[in-house]
Amino acid sequence: MLLQIVLRKKASALTALVTAAAIALTPFSAAHAQAKGPPVLRDTETEQLLREYTRPILRVAGLEKHNIQMVIINDGSFNAFVADGRRIFVNYGAILQSETPNQIIGVLAHETGHLAGGHLSKLREQLAAAQTQMIIAMLLGVGAIAAGSTQRSSAGNNGLANAGAAAIAAPQEVIRRTLLSYQRQQEENADRAGVKFLSATQQSPKGMYETFKRFTSESLFAARGADPYLQSHPMPAERVAALQEFASSSPFWNKKDDPALQLRHDMVRAKISAFMERPETVYRRYPLSNDSLPARYARAISTYLHGDLRSALTQIDALIQVQPNNPYFYEVRGQALLESGKPAEAIPALRKAAQLLNNSPLIEMLLGQALVGTDNKAYTDDAVRILRAAVAREPEAALGYTQLAMAYGRKGEYAEADLASAQAAYLRGDNKTARELATRAKTRFAVGTPGWVKADDIVAAKPPRN
Ligand SMILES: [Zn+2]
Repeated sequence: MLLQIVLRKKASALTALVTAAAIALTPFSAAHAQAKGPPVLRDTETEQLLREYTRPILRVAGLEKHNIQMVIINDGSFNAFVADGRRIFVNYGAILQSETPNQIIGVLAHETGHLAGGHLSKLREQLAAAQTQMIIAMLLGVGAIAAGSTQRSSAGNNGLANAGAAAIAAPQEVIRRTLLSYQRQQEENADRAGVKFLSATQQSPKGMYETFKRFTSESLFAARGADPYLQSHPMPAERVAALQEFASSSPFWNKKDDPALQLRHDMVRAKISAFMERPETVYRRYPLSNDSLPARYARAISTYLHGDLRSALTQIDALIQVQPNNPYFYEVRGQALLESGKPAEAIPALRKAAQLLNNSPLIEMLLGQALVGTDNKAYTDDAVRILRAAVAREPEAALGYTQLAMAYGRKGEYAEADLASAQAAYLRGDNKTARELATRAKTRFAVGTPGWVKADDIVAAKPPRN
């Protein structure tokens, strides 16, 4: 399942910081980011792989207990960044463009270097300082413009008004350069820390070098500012040369990725391509002549999304024959059936996927959705049990609460149904509906009960408790 959701909760703080940084460095993308917001992709298989990539790195970086989360951003360009000291953000484009696990692991090690160095809070201080300076500069500039326009009205020219605009621009340029040189220093520190983490986990720093090298050579040709990763990570040739020097001395420089891990990486890239790219692109990457498992996975998913269900199921069943214990093949089978309006037929495959994974709340939500979708009352208690357990472990996915509300409604438990609907609306970002439903839920619960307290939190627009 690849879900596209809107990031809730800490999103405003994130947007604020990204916007602040972007304003300081690139005004255009700031406006763009504000208009679009940061939508997030959810997928159990991809998240699991990214967690396995980062876990050893976080451990040697001393961040094991910081509960650092991986967040996949719905953006096909290459980017990875840290924004609030507890999350690493990765564009799906960065995964798609990384040909080996080692390449994306290198980028994650570099980002962990930023986290471990506390670069973010330092950059925030720099930005705060810059903003103060900028405000002073603006005030001076506006003063000059005011003086200029007075001058113009009397002298009939606008020379001084232009001088005012220049007075605004000049200090901003100085601030921008100061920030950039500060940022470069942080980048070099993160490179060194990243290589250290890779050595400590006996991994090669070659992938990190390859990725950054690629950006250096591409930056010669690409239009300035076209690539978000280059904006957040200035990549002058001397930085990459320095990286090459200390990275190539690693005893693990020539160490290759484990073939089993490479296959999982390629499977995830195939899945992302199939879900996010147009069918023509998918078939160009994975032509029928390519008989590999990733190519067959990509084509099976693309067929279910854009072709006919029967052909998709045939392809998925052939994949299951090759790897009968791969939970994600059953997940795709269930998802294809569910989305084709066959919830009852989806149940066995989703049950199998959930069983093989043991802890996969997103897939359990899909199973709950299939159970509710059958309209069979005999499944209702099972659906409530599965969905309650799933939302407890995955409280930020609206799907679980939407399905839970339907299951409660079917049981005639309207207070719980209203509360779950309110929680779903809250997670979708629809605060008005969330408040209305939570207000109604409060009238249906006894005052002070756990349900009433949760509903009250939503009415008060606090993040709901779980
Ligand atoms: Zn960086």
